Amino acid sequence: MAQNRFATEIYLDLNDKRKIPALGLGTIPSGDPKGVKDQVIAAVEAGYRHLDTAWYYGSEKCIGEALKELSAKGVKREDLFITTKVWPSFYHSPEKSLDKSLHDLGTDYVDLLLQHWPVCLRGGEDGTPTEPKDKDGNLVYDDDPVTGEKFIDVYNAIEDIKLHTNKVKSVGVSNYSIPKLKQLLPKVKKFVPAVNQIEYHPQLPQKDLTDFCDEHGILVEAYSPVGGPGAPVLKLPYVNELAEKYDVSPNEVVNAYHILENRSVIPRSSKLERIQTNIRLPKLTKEELRTLYQIGVVKPTRYTNDPWGYGLGFRYWKGDTLSKNFD
Ligand code: NDP
Repeated sequence: MAQNRFATEIYLDLNDKRKIPALGLGTIPSGDPKGVKDQVIAAVEAGYRHLDTAWYYGSEKCIGEALKELSAKGVKREDLFITTKVWPSFYHSPEKSLDKSLHDLGTDYVDLLLQHWPVCLRGGEDGTPTEPKDKDGNLVYDDDPVTGEKFIDVYNAIEDIKLHTNKVKSVGVSNYSIPKLKQLLPKVKKFVPAVNQIEYHPQLPQKDLTDFCDEHGILVEAYSPVGGPGAPVLKLPYVNELAEKYDVSPNEVVNAYHILENRSVIPRSSKLERIQTNIRLPKLTKEELRTLYQIGVVKPTRYTNDPWGYGLGFRYWKGDTLSKNFD
């Protein structure tokens, strides 16, 4: 069998002529964010060059500490690709949100700034509360999640940061469905999103959305590649069969599912050894990629179920009764 390559060596093209390392490290903390510092150091020392974070995750200070230590060891900032995001409750001030992220990360630019969700939640000046609720426990929006268009202004403001400052290299979106992209694309000022970061794994079919992104030159990034906590995707018998065939871990099969199809992937783990060893790229065949995809077609499962995802027009969103407005 052909030798496995390393996923850390693969770079994918963005629509603005820049490149993104195909394998990134996710940085949502499991528990205390302090652990993220060692995770980042372990990842970069193992060859990762791409870090995915967000103001919302609360781990950017710890990533900043890791970057300082890595810099002292000779890792250059320009060799890393760092993504951060603007959370919906900070929608009114994307540049302020970015400035906070830059401050905590200890860098003067990010490689990619994403709009975290196409939703506007009522946060205060400092972006908190991040999940504003009324007395009945319902989310408080500043625009209708189904029919509102304010989310487009937020993306336009993110474009402005790229146009008028040196604080971001590329701009993009996250959690955009086809209906939301259709609303946005005619209204972009100058930059079609370079990336759409979405939940994607063998249990969640996303062909229509990825085809739409391909047609418009938007790279798809896969989050929750093993399905998040509990790693349900790693329990699939076919994933384990392929892991055995290629003599890699099930995590590496799941990464290859994306990278071989031109998608970036951002797994996370609190276990340093898992991060360090999750880097080989088994050369799955087209047929094997198709078989993995079919698992989700037969039984689609989405693991993200955040209330701010309701009404955004995603398929297979459990309990979403608002999105029928898009039919
Ligand atoms: P992942 O799919 O990467 O799953 C991580 C979980 O899987 C952890 O709990 C980890 O546990 C567990 N896991 C991994 N490997 C194994 C294994 N071999 N055996 C048992 N358990 C395992 O989840 P995320 O949802 O966190 O997604 C990854 C990244 O994507 C995030 O960190 C974030 O950067 C990004 N993201 C973006 C979102 C967005 O809205 N744009 C939403 C969600 C995520 P352990 O720690 O024990 O290894």
